[in-house]
Amino acid sequence: MTRATNPALAGSVTRVERGVFLDRDGTLIVERTNPVRQVSEIELLPGAAQAVASFNKAGWLVVLVTNQAAIARGAVSWDEYELVRVGLAEKLREHSAHLDFDLCCPHHQDQGQAPYSRPCGCRKPQPGMLQAAMERCGPCPRRWSLIGDAWRDLAAANAAGVESHLVLTGKGALERARCEQSRFVQAHQVHADLGAAARALLQGK
Ligand SMILES: [Mg+2]
Ligand SMILES: [Zn+2]
Repeated sequence: MTRATNPALAGSVTRVERGVFLDRDGTLIVERTNPVRQVSEIELLPGAAQAVASFNKAGWLVVLVTNQAAIARGAVSWDEYELVRVGLAEKLREHSAHLDFDLCCPHHQDQGQAPYSRPCGCRKPQPGMLQAAMERCGPCPRRWSLIGDAWRDLAAANAAGVESHLVLTGKGALERARCEQSRFVQAHQVHADLGAAARALLQGK
């Protein structure tokens, strides 16, 4: 199950030419040892909110796609996830930034308990969340990119036919080698962080 948390897309969607998928942990916010359960634990990565604001300003659709197997494991409840989701939106708003909507996979194929302990098509590296978002948006944006810090983000993008960008924040530095060794999962580009990725994408590099 993919949970769509903000179904109200702005009426401007039909004009949107470009869209960007963002991973959450390690890309937009600091990935912690324990999963983020409270608003006080949300730490935006340096320059990340400004990067989102720059996409917003340029008229790109910004969609968060996050794996949260902590929900399957019972380490984070949906209520806690929702509080963090709202808290993140507030923190972004302080920087005049917003996500157009966000999708979360709460599953894990073998960890945790029912109903979320099961194989699914939405947990990255599966492309389900990206496909669901693209289906929801229809023909616009015409072109999508993804920015993430892990091999599984890039694999999901590749499977969905979306250009992939690796950032070296979060797990990125370690995951870079894994991507470089992979015959199947290659980053289109590698960037220091979300800010650098946004600048490159918005400049069309
Ligand atoms: Mg990540
Ligand atoms: Zn899932």
